[in-house]
Amino acid sequence: MNKTMDYYEILGVDKNATKDEIKHAFRQMARKYHPDVNKEEGAADKFKAIGKAYETLSDEKKREIYDRYGEEGLSNAGFNTGGFNMEDIDLSDIFSSFFGGGFSGFSSGFQETSQRPHRGDDLRLDIEIDFLEACFGVEKEVQIRHLEPCESCNATGMDKNAKDTVCPTCHGQGRVQQSTRTILGSFTSVTTCPNCRGTGKNPKAYCKTCHGIGAVEKNKTLTVKIPHGIEHGSKMRVAHEGNAGHNGGMSGDLYIVVHVKQSKEFVRQGFDIYSKISITTPQAVLGDEMEIKTIHGTKVIIIPSGTQNGDKITLKGEGVPYLGSNTQRGNHYVEVHVVVPKKLSQEEEKLYKELYMISKTQQSNNILDKMKQALKK
Ligand SMILES: [Zn+2]
Ligand SMILES: [Zn+2]
Repeated sequence: MNKTMDYYEILGVDKNATKDEIKHAFRQMARKYHPDVNKEEGAADKFKAIGKAYETLSDEKKREIYDRYGEEGLSNAGFNTGGFNMEDIDLSDIFSSFFGGGFSGFSSGFQETSQRPHRGDDLRLDIEIDFLEACFGVEKEVQIRHLEPCESCNATGMDKNAKDTVCPTCHGQGRVQQSTRTILGSFTSVTTCPNCRGTGKNPKAYCKTCHGIGAVEKNKTLTVKIPHGIEHGSKMRVAHEGNAGHNGGMSGDLYIVVHVKQSKEFVRQGFDIYSKISITTPQAVLGDEMEIKTIHGTKVIIIPSGTQNGDKITLKGEGVPYLGSNTQRGNHYVEVHVVVPKKLSQEEEKLYKELYMISKTQQSNNILDKMKQALKK
């Protein structure tokens, strides 16, 4: 084939023609010059040239190479510029396979995913903090290991001094094309380049530090501010501390999952705190004052006289500071457990007996009163 032939001229479109214009032009030209239709001399050659021009210009990547380097660039890039064989294909075949779904994937489905910018992976880190740290917030130093952009190569993955950075096998395409002739015509299959595994870069020119990845694994110490009121199992996002992206893509994020240790004294539900105290029977009967532990320190509470087993005493605002609020706090609920003594001193026994007699007398009096009232009627 003549090296100076112009694909745009062959199809009769201008250099800025859209995909649709190119497709339309090809369809018209193919109909006109197909050997089944056109028996003129040279029609077959013309038809071949049309097919070749269309094959190149309908493929974004090929068109780009052709625009920049011409036909020679295409063959350098490993594309078989002479082998587009359409003689065996009849018109209906062209239109069904070329314009149907079968071929449409050629230009859109094989865009080299490995060369596009990719956001880096998100990472997860689990940490454990104390009960009170979760209540009041804490700053923690955490060690992470993530991919950072490689400084040696400016994250390009390629040795700064390397000259042949383009993969010699696929010429930067990241894919190689194979033509197979079958009874139905010649088919082209495209596979990922085995030399560069689709990156289009020359593995021999890879950066020595990162081996072509453009990123290196590094340890990093982060200071993480854990807010007050955080709950067990909460996830905190630390932006851009995940793995570095590829081909200029953003870094992923780091997610810190916070595990909160349990407390021996307190149970937390939301922002409320629950604890239990034990009191003696006389304290329950007569009432008392006593010191109890809250997350905010020791507080004095008043046990009202006549407190029953299981009663709750509320300490308003002595619970956990609300997440994201500097003024609001939950409550602290103290559940009272009245302990009935199992063993008594002699003195206690004497006093309990007195109490017993008093209550007995009261009971008898009550019965007597009832009997008297009953007799009156
Ligand atoms: Zn390659
Ligand atoms: Zn590097």
